[in-house]
Amino acid sequence: MAPKFHVLVIGGGIGGFACAVGLARKGHAVTVLERSASLQTWGGGLLISSNALRVIESYGLLGRFQEVAEKWERHVIFRYDGGVLDVLSNAANEKVFGYEMLNVRRQVYQRVLYEGAVEQGVKVRFGCRVEKIDDSEKGPSVMLSTGETLLADLIVGADGIKSTTRPFILGGRDVKLQPNSTCYQCTIPASLMLSSPLTAPLINERAIHSWWGPNTHWICGRKSNGQSYDAAFFIHPTASSPLPASHVSASNSHDPGKGKDNDRRGDVREVIDGVQTHGYEERVQAFAKMIPHENCTLWKVAQLPDLPTWVSESGRIVLLGDAAHAMSPHLGQGAAMTIEDGGVLSECLARASSLDDIPRAVKVYEEIQKGRTEKVKRAAGVSGVWKTMADGPEQRKRDEGFRKRMESGEKYEFWRASGHLAWIYGWDSKLEVGKELDRVFPVGKGIGQRARI
Ligand SMILES: Cc1cc2nc3c(=O)[nH]c(=O)nc-3n(C[C@H](O)[C@H](O)[C@H](O)COP(=O)(O)OP(=O)(O)OC[C@H]3O[C@@H](n4cnc5c(N)ncnc54)[C@H](O)[C@@H]3O)c2cc1C
Repeated sequence: MAPKFHVLVIGGGIGGFACAVGLARKGHAVTVLERSASLQTWGGGLLISSNALRVIESYGLLGRFQEVAEKWERHVIFRYDGGVLDVLSNAANEKVFGYEMLNVRRQVYQRVLYEGAVEQGVKVRFGCRVEKIDDSEKGPSVMLSTGETLLADLIVGADGIKSTTRPFILGGRDVKLQPNSTCYQCTIPASLMLSSPLTAPLINERAIHSWWGPNTHWICGRKSNGQSYDAAFFIHPTASSPLPASHVSASNSHDPGKGKDNDRRGDVREVIDGVQTHGYEERVQAFAKMIPHENCTLWKVAQLPDLPTWVSESGRIVLLGDAAHAMSPHLGQGAAMTIEDGGVLSECLARASSLDDIPRAVKVYEEIQKGRTEKVKRAAGVSGVWKTMADGPEQRKRDEGFRKRMESGEKYEFWRASGHLAWIYGWDSKLEVGKELDRVFPVGKGIGQRARI
């Protein structure tokens, strides 16, 4: 069967590949243009919650993700001094939402989606940097750094927080990124963790461990079936301790062509200083000193302000993922939202039967996802503040809330979020989109002009 539309996806990150799978499954001819020469080979663990897993399941990829995920049973949240604040259960997650939350390394997440895309017939071109975007009478097009021009029926800008597509959509002027925190993602080999009675129990347990301290927090857990312990340390700026100038220019994605941005090495001394200054308990002090220098990656975490629009004037160029709504990772939702975006966009575009229908389909995608992702972004910000409270009356109130809830049995979310995360995890995008599309864009009511492919 001839493909319906020709779609160019700029960016082969999690968002680009996931969206390519969804679109290809609906019969579109999809090409992904990725500036890096190959797939990413580094990065820490990402959590995949049920809202994203529902989309992944609809792509036939759930089993593969379950195979490569690091098994965990509980998520223990400690105070920085070692007291237990809460214990979350993955079984509770499954009971309430139908899926265990998965813990997968970034590069594995991307690779599974890439393989899924290739199997669906998606063409992936590595080493292709998009330099310019155009949107003329003839339709949207991109120009690569080589000078090659490619035309499409629809262009999806899945090109990350420092998107090339976004300024084009915003009429040539980009928004300013909002720096949030600095994250040091570290990998400690099992041999080191097992060498100390303080740290060995941490890697032996099938668990995620968080420590929440003043202006800082950790999220850690074993990886590669116990071969290593991955530990991410976040430092949030304060009035008296702002982000170092070198950490302000946010760079959440890898740019092989840009010298400075490419320097992602974190300084382990800053991690050790951070845990000592903030008085972390002895287990954290111990594993921080074990981090090999070559295993510490620096992430400059930032978020985007809400954008006026995600869609170009013609309705044929659209943003997705971090390019549209980069958020702080304090609810573990950035990638999950990009997965949702791709699922929703694929469903919407499936209702378009001609080129003239595309702008309307894309608009429905924007209507569904923009408000939702902005709300999640705000919740992630609140969660970051919550995790990093300085000792004082607010923190005592928070801890008292945790203490009361400790007695209330198995739960999937930490106390502050109680009753509030169901709107994120419980979301079934296919169902929600179906309702909206039936209203705005009934089946069989396309305008009926032949697609250009
Ligand atoms: C420390 C940290 C922890 C996180 N933890 C979680 C978590 O637990 N759960 C979760 O869901 N999310 C998490 N996130 C968020 C998640 O990593 C991002 O939201 C997600 O990776 C965004 O994917 P993306 O594809 O939109 O962007 P990116 O991953 O940035 O991909 C964009 C791609 O576009 C390419 N590109 C850019 N410009 C061009 C161009 N001009 N031409 C061609 N290609 C181009 C880039 O090379 C890149 O491959 C975390 C983020 C951080 C920083």
